[in-house]
Amino acid sequence: MNKTIQIACSSMPDFEEYTEEIRGLWESHWLTNMGIKHKELELKLVDYLQVSDITLFTNGHFALESIIAATGLMGEVITTPFTFASTTHAIVRNGINPIFCDINPKDYTIDVDKIENLITDKTSAIIPVHVYGNVCDVDRIDEIARKHNLKVIYDAAHAFGVTVNGKGVGTFGDASMFSFHATKVFNTIEGGAVVFRDEKLKRKLDALKNFGITQSDAVEYVGGNAKMNEFQAAMGICNLRHVDKEIVRRKAIVDRYQDRLYNTKGIKLCKPQANVKGNYAYFPVVFDGYRLMRDEVFERLKTQNIYARKYFYPLVSDFECYKGRFNITETPVAKHISDSIICLPLYADLALEDVDRICDIILK
Ligand SMILES: *Cc1c(COP(=O)(O)O)cnc(C)c1O
Repeated sequence: MNKTIQIACSSMPDFEEYTEEIRGLWESHWLTNMGIKHKELELKLVDYLQVSDITLFTNGHFALESIIAATGLMGEVITTPFTFASTTHAIVRNGINPIFCDINPKDYTIDVDKIENLITDKTSAIIPVHVYGNVCDVDRIDEIARKHNLKVIYDAAHAFGVTVNGKGVGTFGDASMFSFHATKVFNTIEGGAVVFRDEKLKRKLDALKNFGITQSDAVEYVGGNAKMNEFQAAMGICNLRHVDKEIVRRKAIVDRYQDRLYNTKGIKLCKPQANVKGNYAYFPVVFDGYRLMRDEVFERLKTQNIYARKYFYPLVSDFECYKGRFNITETPVAKHISDSIICLPLYADLALEDVDRICDIILK
């Protein structure tokens, strides 16, 4: 039997590096509630991401829910259905109506030419997704948002470490959410963060993740509990030391996939974006007119113990929990891509021989 290859493999520091990092916790007994590791990771990430401010969370999803709440969004928010469940759920769980805009067929981010048609007097924000680490058309989105007085919050869950003309991707819009889930390019086991411009948001976000508590005797907001604990932060501090090297190794794997699959009739790959330094988070492949359908490729790989992922399928607007609420034919490009895309295994430790084996199965 061939060895199993999963879609992702979580990055971990050496065991000794991690245990050294958490040793002090056995003296302090301070395990959560914004301890020393939490503070240290916030400082290091502000620097790494080149942003002005940050608040850490126990996961990316609650980071997104909290920034939507903190910004006071209402009514309708324009977003895309070609994303992970979290983006839409965060909007809906805040009592807001998601309005789905189609994606562009080039990089699968929001189609900026279709946003303005969807704006109504109820629209309060645009929540686009830097899907696969591909950067949205941030300039056009900024222009539209200014013209219509809308907030912009990016779901940057996939875009850790990405820069545009040397600028951190988290500097665009009013705020961005990053996910540090185990399967992401940078992980804190589970974790996430909001980065933002307006320094007044810091106090509110810090409170929202801690029951709305602002001082020892004051609860100013109806907050939840979404604090990052010290063990998560320690994992982040360790992983951050190695993330640049990991991104370089990811690039070598992506280059190999590109070399092998590029120029094959019916196989469509994402082109690198101009002026963007990517993070090689995912390797999406669209099968459009190829002699095998997407599902056939998926099954073939599976019989060889290789686990690709139909990411993102189905569209959020097609989820059981939203039955009858949205019309998937209104976002035809998203529908088509969702039906024909697969993400191939990709992680820093993936061997190039394994990349070749995967490509052989697809091309054979
Ligand atoms: C991972 C992810 C999230 C949610 O992040 P968690 O840290 O898993 O809560 C949100 N949006 C997108 C696009 C994601 O991929």
